[in-house]
Amino acid sequence: MPGFELFGAEERKEVNDVLETGILMRYGFDGPRKGIWKAKELEQAISSKLNVPYTQLTSSGTTALTTALAALGVGAGDEVIMPTFTFVASFESIFSVGATPVLVDVDDTLTLDPRAVEAAITPRTRVVMPVHMCGAMADLDALKAICDQHNLILLEDACQSFGASYKGRALGTIGHAGAFSFDFVKTITCAEGGAVVTHDKDLYIKCDAYSDHGHDHLGADRGADQHPFMGYNFRISELHAAVGLAQIRKLDTFLAIQRKTKKIMKDALSAIPEVSFRRLPDPDGDSATFLGFFLPEEGQARAAAAAMKAAGLAAFYWYDNNWHYIRNWEHFRQSATLNHFAPGLQQAMELYRIRQFPVSDAIINRCVCTPINLGWSEQEVQEKAGKLVKAVKSVL
Ligand SMILES: *Cc1c(COP(=O)(O)O)cnc(C)c1O
Repeated sequence: MPGFELFGAEERKEVNDVLETGILMRYGFDGPRKGIWKAKELEQAISSKLNVPYTQLTSSGTTALTTALAALGVGAGDEVIMPTFTFVASFESIFSVGATPVLVDVDDTLTLDPRAVEAAITPRTRVVMPVHMCGAMADLDALKAICDQHNLILLEDACQSFGASYKGRALGTIGHAGAFSFDFVKTITCAEGGAVVTHDKDLYIKCDAYSDHGHDHLGADRGADQHPFMGYNFRISELHAAVGLAQIRKLDTFLAIQRKTKKIMKDALSAIPEVSFRRLPDPDGDSATFLGFFLPEEGQARAAAAAMKAAGLAAFYWYDNNWHYIRNWEHFRQSATLNHFAPGLQQAMELYRIRQFPVSDAIINRCVCTPINLGWSEQEVQEKAGKLVKAVKSVL
């Protein structure tokens, strides 16, 4: 990761196809676009790559989650279970439909702890939203069993895990719906973009309309479209979709590079007895965008990340990070919004002003992740593996 590292002639060609016609919008203008439909083509490519019947592109991963939640009928008073370790888009999308985020601990998979999910279920729970962080999967069998038992919706945030799978099925295609991001630093990029995937045709039709002002897209004349319900403009442009089309054709190459490189780095680090690794419910399905590991103590993990950075390696110590872990989401904790929450939601948010998450803390404060890049030569990979081992050993 990320796909932008291998940007080139293929992306330029696809973008040029669009520039030749000048039709930058994904809908309409059937004549002048001369058969160029990049967004439609990318939707088909995603469906066929992930083996899922329906894909709706959107303007971002955040709007993909929002679109999925709205299409699933989630709104005011509904609780959505989400992990403490994720990206801020998780709660942003939940707030955007007026629903209530319920934060739940993660385990050593760095994703939702199924037992903690079960404990958080209330009569208002509608959705369980696992986030497949850093390229790999949550324990989907356990989460799906809980959802089935309690009649809940499983919505997969697979924004960081395009191309990863669980027991042979693509992440994002196992729940009622899945969301992907193609922002600039994701596995494949459109510059900005996202997608909702689903097996449910009715849900797809709702996503299609919701992400384009409620247009039903049934007629040949956009101006004469009916609007069965209200929507927003979460459309992707043809230029963005064109970039994604070139990128998805390279996905298998990206995954092969990442898996090979990660194995070398992980094997090297395995020689250190104090190191344990992120648990992967299906190691074969890992997209291998990151190598995540634990050290015995918080201080060692923080020091290891610093030593790695000093040695020129990228290192994420999520416990101190402002975007990915509840500890530093001060704006979330304080409900710092520009407008007012509905009264019920405001009340539900009060608990986060003081709520602590010691179980998640004890996982995340010992965790270090290093990204696996696409552009490294074999020699660089060996050098980096050596530096990684040296940096980690230096703090033990
Ligand atoms: C990137 C990301 C998103 C949001 O995607 P954008 O395209 O940046 O809006 C949502 N969830 C997770 C876990 C992400 O990493």
